[in-house]
Amino acid sequence: MTQEGFCYAFNPDACSSCGGNCCTGESGNIFVSVTEITAIAKLLEMDEREFRRNYLRKEGYRYSLQERMVKGSHDCVFFDRSRNGCSIYTARPLQCRTFPFWDYFRHRIDELKQECPGIIG
Ligand code: SF4
Ligand code: SF4
Repeated sequence: MTQEGFCYAFNPDACSSCGGNCCTGESGNIFVSVTEITAIAKLLEMDEREFRRNYLRKEGYRYSLQERMVKGSHDCVFFDRSRNGCSIYTARPLQCRTFPFWDYFRHRIDELKQECPGIIG
């Protein structure tokens, strides 16, 4: 898989054996828009206010998914270790859908390769 403007490719087959490096590890923000919040709450059949209370944290003027500490790792609250995958996959935020083709990594391929074994380039 390639994307215009990026000098690397991505092999999604690597995800099955990776252990979810991009959803775990160091702490970070997983930003969600208002539309995405509605979609995830709907998927979980939850009241939106309850969803915000239980799963979001405020980061400045934006919202991020919460993390939880598992064996020293900051896991996204929706990463399911037992299934090695995202428990809200069909409603995952744009930030997750667009990984690993982020502007941040455009010129930081070595850093990206350390996180994601699916990078070719
Ligand atoms: S870090 Fe890369 S290989 Fe691992 S789950 Fe994320 S996208 Fe897939
Ligand atoms: S929402 Fe899903 S894909 Fe995004 S970081 Fe959390 S577990 Fe990973």
